[in-house]
Amino acid sequence: MEVEAVVDASTVRRWLEEAAASVREQRDYLTQLDAAIGDADHGTNMDRGFAAVVDKLAAAEPSTPGKLLTTAGSTLVSTVGGASGPLWGTALRRAGRTLGDADSFDAAELAAALEAALEGVVELGAAQEGDKTMVDALAPAVRALRAQIDRGAPLGTAVGAARSAAEDGMRATVPLQASKGRASYLGERSIGHQDPGATSTALVFVALERAVTAEQ
Ligand code: ADP
Ligand code: MG
Repeated sequence: MEVEAVVDASTVRRWLEEAAASVREQRDYLTQLDAAIGDADHGTNMDRGFAAVVDKLAAAEPSTPGKLLTTAGSTLVSTVGGASGPLWGTALRRAGRTLGDADSFDAAELAAALEAALEGVVELGAAQEGDKTMVDALAPAVRALRAQIDRGAPLGTAVGAARSAAEDGMRATVPLQASKGRASYLGERSIGHQDPGATSTALVFVALERAVTAEQ
């Protein structure tokens, strides 16, 4: 019988470390995207925040997945000045709270945690899909994850589908006109550029896939 995949604190640590490494590697690209339709700080914002998360977790006691995520979220809120700090901070804190005190979680609990993360982002930023924000990558990713899990797909497959949906959502921001955040100030001139926040969101899902498949 196949053992149900379970993820634990080491997977979450690995996820956040992979996200930090990927944001560091793509920092200049993210900043270039933000230079086109924002204020050219998205790469530095995300890099500063995720680097602080890695430092914070390296110094932290062994902990539960939920606590690691709430700590990471609070660190992002306190270290990132731009919109992405509170948005990602809220996302990770909500995900952490949803996981609670358990030592490990399964695929369905991961989907619930990421659904809560999306809800937190939408509550705080009031962006809907199509507004050309991180929600355009996050919402389809969460939907894809849930759909795969509901049909009994293995965790690795489900997370791979989420990553792929995030990347599709990211690319689909190019023709959109921004109606939330700084890019909305540009009106029609925001059309034709990929949203920086949707791009970093796709990186976070690449990191999740790497962390989950490394454990299996
Ligand atoms: P700032 O816009 O304050 O400079 P960043 O450059 O770090 O912050 O992040 C910009 C990204 O934040 C955008 O590309 C977009 O994806 C996301 N964003 C901005 N406003 C919102 C919002 N209201 N809801 C969701 N995401 C948003
Ligand atoms: Mg910016």
